Amino acid sequence: MKNEEQLAFIDLKAQQDVVREQLEERIKAVLEHGRYILGPEVQEFEGKLADFVGVKHCIGVSSGTDALLAVLMARGIGPGDAVFTTPFTFIATAEIVSLLGATPVFVDIDHQTCNIDPHLLKTAVEALIAHDPAMYPLPANHQELTPKAIIPVDLFGLPADNDPIMALARQYELFVLEDAAQGLVGVYKGKPAGSLGHAAATSFFPAKPLGCYGDGGAVLTDDDEIASRVTSIRVHGKGVDKYDNVRIGLNARLHTLQAAILLPKLAVFAEELEKRQHIAERYQQQFSACCSDVVTCPYVPEGSRSAWAQFSIRVQQRDLVQERLQEQGVPSFVYYQKNLHLQSAYAGLGYRADAFPVAEATSSSILSLPMHPYLKDGQIDRVVDSVKQAVDGLR
Ligand SMILES: *Cc1c(COP(=O)(O)O)cnc(C)c1O
Repeated sequence: MKNEEQLAFIDLKAQQDVVREQLEERIKAVLEHGRYILGPEVQEFEGKLADFVGVKHCIGVSSGTDALLAVLMARGIGPGDAVFTTPFTFIATAEIVSLLGATPVFVDIDHQTCNIDPHLLKTAVEALIAHDPAMYPLPANHQELTPKAIIPVDLFGLPADNDPIMALARQYELFVLEDAAQGLVGVYKGKPAGSLGHAAATSFFPAKPLGCYGDGGAVLTDDDEIASRVTSIRVHGKGVDKYDNVRIGLNARLHTLQAAILLPKLAVFAEELEKRQHIAERYQQQFSACCSDVVTCPYVPEGSRSAWAQFSIRVQQRDLVQERLQEQGVPSFVYYQKNLHLQSAYAGLGYRADAFPVAEATSSSILSLPMHPYLKDGQIDRVVDSVKQAVDGLR
């Protein structure tokens, strides 16, 4: 098996070949009309993505991070506000909370879905209201905090358990911002990812399920007020125009060229999901046939569908397995090596190293395997074979 051709973790080239003609036409059109900032492609894309997700408003912004940030700004989140989220996510989810002077309050994940655990979330909200860190681990400054918002993450493409989260949000008047950076085309009980909270943020970073060729993102919401504020915030808090500034904002627009690139990709996005679904099923079948005792496949609850942004297994001796895969030319990636509460940037929150045992254990066993719509059956089998050899060699 040595010296085999290196597999791609995500093959953007294969996708590009499928949409090349439309991409070139779209890019050429932008070069001709020259409206590089908020040109017609941005609005066209926003309309199409809003319809695709089934929400009233889509506002294209400069990244997934800015999408999250703009929504919290629109809600006036700031110092003294507590925003509950998972420690098992990309830093952007919590970073924007801190940027606004608010405080992320972490809640452990469910051991099956790897998403925020709604029961623990309830405990954490009540612990914060009672200012009682004996009830649940709280950040050092908890005495100064009031619960304001929740950011559930559609991790690896699977939406979080939304019904109990929304019920809790209603009970305590909390705002729910869905971090759908990895979630588009995922589904929760018949509702599409991107429509699950009061507003959602998504990302078009190239490696995301719907990626552009640079940075990009969008805010999705049914709420007219949030939509109108985010539209203002993405252009320096504009009023009638960008020289009339009614609030503090950002320079956070989706580029016309990126919207032009996203349009043909959105046209094949639903088909690509079917392909991802097939790949995930094949991975699952092969792993259950060969090594279900040592490899745990992703869990998708009844009524949910994953967007399969990643196919992430859990395996013992993960680092050794990863090394062996590397030797076989099979790329893999660890999302996420370090929980957010253990990052140096968050040392000030004072969380202990065993505060969130499920998230911490998951970080040491998780391993994402190659996943993209153009992965061939033979390549899937090769990945599974390599994993099997690696775990057999370690038994
Ligand atoms: C990628 C990602 C983001 C940030 O998106 P960018 O477009 O890179 O700014 C936020 N949250 C999660 C969960 C992500 O995976």
